[in-house]
Amino acid sequence: MIPYGRQFIDQDDIEAVLNVLKSDWLTTGPKVDEFEEKVCEFVGARYAVAVSSGTAALHCAMFAIGIKPGDEVIIPPMTFAATANCVVFQGGKPVIVDVAQDTLLIDPVCIKEIMSPKTRAIIAVDYTGHPCDYDTITDISKSNKIPLVADACHSLGAKYKGKLVGSLADLSVLSFHPVKHITTAEGGMILTDNKEYYERMRLFRNHGIKTDHRQREKQGSWIYEMTELGYNYRITDIQCALGITQLHKLPEFLSKRRAIAKKYDKAFAEIESIQPLFVQNYVQHAYHLYVVRLKKGKSEKDRSQIFREMREKGVGVNVHYIPVHLHPYYRRKFNTVEGLCPVSETAYEEIISLPMHPNLSDDETNRVIDTLIKAGSA
Ligand SMILES: *Cc1c(COP(=O)(O)O)cnc(C)c1O
Repeated sequence: MIPYGRQFIDQDDIEAVLNVLKSDWLTTGPKVDEFEEKVCEFVGARYAVAVSSGTAALHCAMFAIGIKPGDEVIIPPMTFAATANCVVFQGGKPVIVDVAQDTLLIDPVCIKEIMSPKTRAIIAVDYTGHPCDYDTITDISKSNKIPLVADACHSLGAKYKGKLVGSLADLSVLSFHPVKHITTAEGGMILTDNKEYYERMRLFRNHGIKTDHRQREKQGSWIYEMTELGYNYRITDIQCALGITQLHKLPEFLSKRRAIAKKYDKAFAEIESIQPLFVQNYVQHAYHLYVVRLKKGKSEKDRSQIFREMREKGVGVNVHYIPVHLHPYYRRKFNTVEGLCPVSETAYEEIISLPMHPNLSDDETNRVIDTLIKAGSA
């Protein structure tokens, strides 16, 4: 089976991890600082906080901006559940608004319409690796004096009007899960230029305690004070060592993903029943995912049938995502129903994610293309 996503690990990744295992610090040591500095340097952000997952990173961001019970946060439905869950972790309510027809990215018009005095933040999701319309969304967040959070778990390395993702919102969240651009097995990070947010997130990842073990060791002191209620969201030095060697390979990973996307684009350009998502000319896409819409009525088969056939032929297609508001938890807790986001719901019936990762060979890419064309245009 050709997987839809997969990590790329080589010898220098392995050696970096082994070296940490032989060192003094397995967790919260020098590799955490080094990884944070290197990602900051890469994306052009002032501060970074590395944590145990992308989900923990989203939770840190919600804590940093002070989301509390009664607060509302605007999010799109075409995302992983964690984008909504992080709001609920803090007692807030995710307000789910629809996406644009062509890109399936959060629609700024829908954001404006739903804005209320209870709205405390917007989370824009760079779905598939295509940056959202940051100029327009930043205008809305600024004029309403609320922070803009980028869920950039898909878009490390992408550019919006020449600027790298990570520097486009008040806070930007990354994930280092194995299917993402670079991996630490599990891991995440928040990027910001705001010192106050940075300091709050450092507290939050370590139980709300002001100093870490290494700082106390240096000062020869046992005293620590817990000033906020935090979690153990720490990432280990073992993981950050892997993150550092992975980051060195990021430019190469990105160009491989972009080359595969180009092949897919070309192969499907003339086929009416297979429509890749639209890409704005002002972005450089990072292609975490390559999503096509299998247009209803253009083929005799629907998405579910084509999905099954692809899997039977060894092509590990996937579907991203079931719109968040249709999950049983959200239906039950916030009474969300079908019809809330019609564009997303229609898209959900048609989308399929094709294999996309730096290990995908030319032969495999061709096999994906041939299999889809055979299954989808019959
Ligand atoms: C992967 C992902 C997350 C969560 O990241 P984890 O590291 O798996 O916790 C959040 N949002 C989006 C859009 C993601 O793709």
